[in-house]
Amino acid sequence: MAHVKLEDIWKIYKEKKKTVEVLRGINLEIEKGDFVVILGPSGEGKTTILRIIAGLLKQDKGHVYLRGKLADDMSPKDRNIAMVPQNYAVYPFMNVFDNIAFPLKIEHVPKEEIRKRVLEVAEMLKIDNLLNRRPSQLSGGQLQRVAIARALVKNADIILMDEPLSNLDAQIRVLAREELKELQQKLGPTIIYVTHDQAEALSLATKLALLHNGKIQAYGDPLELYRQPNNSWVASFLGNPAMNLIRSEIAGEKIEFDGQAIPLPERFKGIISSNKVILGIRPENIEISQDGDIEGVVELVEELGSFTITHVRVGNDIIKVIDKAFIKREKGEKVKLKFDYSRIELFDAESGVNLMIK
Ligand code: ADP
Ligand code: MG
Repeated sequence: MAHVKLEDIWKIYKEKKKTVEVLRGINLEIEKGDFVVILGPSGEGKTTILRIIAGLLKQDKGHVYLRGKLADDMSPKDRNIAMVPQNYAVYPFMNVFDNIAFPLKIEHVPKEEIRKRVLEVAEMLKIDNLLNRRPSQLSGGQLQRVAIARALVKNADIILMDEPLSNLDAQIRVLAREELKELQQKLGPTIIYVTHDQAEALSLATKLALLHNGKIQAYGDPLELYRQPNNSWVASFLGNPAMNLIRSEIAGEKIEFDGQAIPLPERFKGIISSNKVILGIRPENIEISQDGDIEGVVELVEELGSFTITHVRVGNDIIKVIDKAFIKREKGEKVKLKFDYSRIELFDAESGVNLMIK
């Protein structure tokens, strides 16, 4: 039984004469204790999905199931879901204690019990020394903890988080991710977390869902999606820089592109139905090396400190390579590329589907 299940969820916003189909058939099954991250660019409907799960917004079509029960007509309160909203939404006129206590107060939990629960979560999040402060006296990192504490205090087994770390600066954000992961492992709630930040998504998710064009384009183990994207859109989206995608043709035992060729790896033999394919290879799986098979010319060098992204022109394609930082290359330099053949993916040129995943 899925802990949270979305079945063919549609949401259409109507504004004046325009209608926008934000969600166009979302299907998602989330198991108890999963840390699911929904990753997608802004405006793709991430907040909309969370509000529908929480019962704050009604879908136009489809069903939400919670803990195995149809929840379409359940009030937000009856859903027993906690939510950390996008902008924290702490109440500025209440101190930290009252902010955290608020969800319990509206449910008329006895005072002593409230006190006990607030102290418990405040200690867990190391903000028990801040309980008398006002939000205006807190740093971004502390505010974020208050917002999370307020979600945890209800003891809900389903927690929704809407880009909760996006207001923190980079260094604190990495620490906050680790803490969040530990907290989830310790307490075991199901977390549905949305973000547009790839690094965050890849590091937090036990299951990653990619949202694009109103649909979940891929759902699974984040590293597996990264290593073996199920379609060329996923390949072009995940990774920074993303996978190189090169229009190619299969000719006998070779993959040809841009007037050059590499051998067709053994594992693809016999499974290829069409000879037009897209070859995918990640920049970190290519080396600039004298014994490479592919000839190209350096077009651009992006020096990023600990590594360099070298853009190499090969015929009509630009192939990106992650290169060691200490090697200096010049625009116009002739180089040879050595692909790690074990890390090549082939996608159907028409449908974009990964030929190894059927
Ligand atoms: P995300 O959280 O991924 O940035 P949202 O769910 O907030 O995306 O919004 C998705 C799209 O729906 C956006 O284009 C947004 O402008 C539009 N939208 C959101 N809420 C409303 C609304 N109440 N009325 C009309 N359009 C809306
Ligand atoms: Mg949003």
